[in-house]
Amino acid sequence: MNNLYIETRDPLFGIIVFFALIFIIAFFSYWWGRYKTKDDSKYLDTFIKNLNTVPADGEIKTIIYDGNVSNHSWLILAQSYIQQGHYEKAIEIYQSILEVEKDTRQQQSIAILLGQAYFKAGFLERSKEIFTKILQHAPRTPNALYSLLLVYDRLKEYKKALDVLEPLHELDEEITHEKRYLECAYLLQRHDVSQKEKAKKLLDVYTQSRSLCYIIFEYLFRVDAAMAWQHLHHDDYRRVSDILWYLPQDKLSMEILTADSYLRELFSAKGVLALAISSNIFELDILIKLQRSHHQGACLQFEYLCQKCKHTFPFSFHRCPHCHSIGSVIPQMMLTKDHFEENYTF
Ligand SMILES: [Zn+2]
Repeated sequence: MNNLYIETRDPLFGIIVFFALIFIIAFFSYWWGRYKTKDDSKYLDTFIKNLNTVPADGEIKTIIYDGNVSNHSWLILAQSYIQQGHYEKAIEIYQSILEVEKDTRQQQSIAILLGQAYFKAGFLERSKEIFTKILQHAPRTPNALYSLLLVYDRLKEYKKALDVLEPLHELDEEITHEKRYLECAYLLQRHDVSQKEKAKKLLDVYTQSRSLCYIIFEYLFRVDAAMAWQHLHHDDYRRVSDILWYLPQDKLSMEILTADSYLRELFSAKGVLALAISSNIFELDILIKLQRSHHQGACLQFEYLCQKCKHTFPFSFHRCPHCHSIGSVIPQMMLTKDHFEENYTF
């Protein structure tokens, strides 16, 4: 025992104990780290799984009624469902919160979200009903007014959409662009106005504002191509490049095509002209070279970019389906196999 006591006082023994302690601490520290990482990972996996799993019908309602989760959290979850395209779940959340919410202002905000969710889900009549009801109680609600305007626009009820602009204007909201667009859309829809009169009015809008190029020239090239060529500003050729590309031969103005470098490239790529030997636009350059070497096999298709939100769509639009901007569409060229055009153009 005495020997042991002496040995433990040996400096070498102290060093051994010191390193042993370091080893034990390092080992436990490593083990704890591994355990925590595994635990966190398991927790995250479960969390993400739960987030991606859509609760069964009625489950959300039951949890909201229990009141264990705040409405704020439910609203975040509903937003997440909307982003994932689970509109029916977002609608269920908004409806259930509305049933338990007592505060009138909160009810109004959530009712607007509910109407917007119905709009995104494509239930336009239901959406219209909700915004109309909100505005009966609170007519000076810009958010509800603008949402109702979007519903009328989607339903092509342009006259009613124009009526909504009036209260928005009274609330000092900027409506110039909306008004101009809705007036054009309503004009195009009217049966009591002649084609000539429509063309003249649309042209007036274009020359005065240099806006709404796509909707105006889509119509003008259909009813009076000569007039359209005469007034379309060369800066706007690219904004309607798909309309120009698909124009039938008898609607082309050779005088204008040959006078503009972009049009020379576009129509040389199509094979209508042979005046360009190259282009800075990749798709046109390839097509021009194919035309010059008498090779077939490729043609041009278009997709449509919203300049504002940068979303692309396979169809053209006057109001962006994503961010609701007006006149933000830009046709984007895409090279495709030639047979695609033969099958799908009409
Ligand atoms: Zn957009």
